[in-house]
Amino acid sequence: MESTVTIPLLKDHHSHPLFYSAFNHAISLNSVENKQVADDLLGQSFEHRNGSLTVAHGWRSNHYRWSQAEIESMPPLAIFNVSLHSLIINRGGMDCLRTRYGNIVDQLADPEWYENNLRVVLNWFANLYASRENLSRFFLELRDLGIHYVEEMLLVDENEIQVFQDCKLLDRTRFWSAPDTFQSLSPQAKTQVHGLKLFTDGAIGSESAALNRPFQGGNGTNRGMLIYTESELAQTIDQCLETEKSLAIHAIGDRAIEQTISTLKKLTPRLSRAPEIRIEHAQLITEQQASVAIDLGIKLCMQPNFSSDSTNYADRLDSGYCTGNNPFRMLIDQVGYTPGENLLLGSDGMPHGIKSAAKNSFFPDFPSQRISLSEFTAAYCLDDFSMGAIRLKVDESSNTIDYEMLPPSDV
Ligand SMILES: [Zn+2]
Repeated sequence: MESTVTIPLLKDHHSHPLFYSAFNHAISLNSVENKQVADDLLGQSFEHRNGSLTVAHGWRSNHYRWSQAEIESMPPLAIFNVSLHSLIINRGGMDCLRTRYGNIVDQLADPEWYENNLRVVLNWFANLYASRENLSRFFLELRDLGIHYVEEMLLVDENEIQVFQDCKLLDRTRFWSAPDTFQSLSPQAKTQVHGLKLFTDGAIGSESAALNRPFQGGNGTNRGMLIYTESELAQTIDQCLETEKSLAIHAIGDRAIEQTISTLKKLTPRLSRAPEIRIEHAQLITEQQASVAIDLGIKLCMQPNFSSDSTNYADRLDSGYCTGNNPFRMLIDQVGYTPGENLLLGSDGMPHGIKSAAKNSFFPDFPSQRISLSEFTAAYCLDDFSMGAIRLKVDESSNTIDYEMLPPSDV
């Protein structure tokens, strides 16, 4: 049975627009499930780019991998895992980065350094290719995908604000920044930052999300990594609260979520200094954790796209984690989270757009992950049709989504 509904354009509460706009020229492996197809795409780029750096993103390690020797045999190359939390780079690629950023680039060989300095590395790539032209083009593409507004979760530097301003895009974003980036800004720029962003763990795809029970495979002891000790996290959050800015904390695994919530709880009297406090992703949150979080006034910013991690990463997550991933029904029906108020939705750019967002919301891997149309609209859309609309065709019999964009005059 097919039904048609008209909804406002998307308000994507979590992405990295400058970084992704810099990737306009890069290869997207997002929908690639086969190594030969990936190699063909890379090969075309090598011809095209003539020895300069080829950048790819969206690599899905559950479908295919390269040996170190294969990677080294290719021209200068950097490939981001779909989560961005791991990077394959060969010696030629390192040489390209070293000429611009110096010997610190050699640290890329250390996965733990990479996870602790993810933001620094993403900024290297953003700065290689970011431009006004690329950003403007990127926002045109976002509109075709149904997105009007997109929050910038990792401000690169002060210049990024200027680029958005020059492109007349300030009203289509708001900026979150790492604490040290924030400290480097001018007083004027600081007023343009909405909040501060911290990471407490890695991601599932790179097996660095901090879990209570280990990842399957390997020697069966890897429980991912916490970025901070408890006292470091408390101190860091405390410093953030001093700024009286909002706070967004990346936590994916149940162990990282536990650490985040218990640390926030200890700081309770001071939390009111932040206009809002969000946990980003919160994929493996338990009912008990969610109950504490909601009482502390913590919002959750989650990504329906990651519901499919339950099948994509069934090779590394135990069955309890697979069924407990993105538990939207528990959060809304049992704990009382309210879409649009304290439960927000976004894409993290993996990928952007209405099609993936709607498919993963309405037809997820597990019924516990399902989001209704009205919940989706509250948590993921603009408040009205002033920017136009998305006419959504939802086919319940084939679980498919189609859409067309309507200009404001047609709504
Ligand atoms: Zn992100």
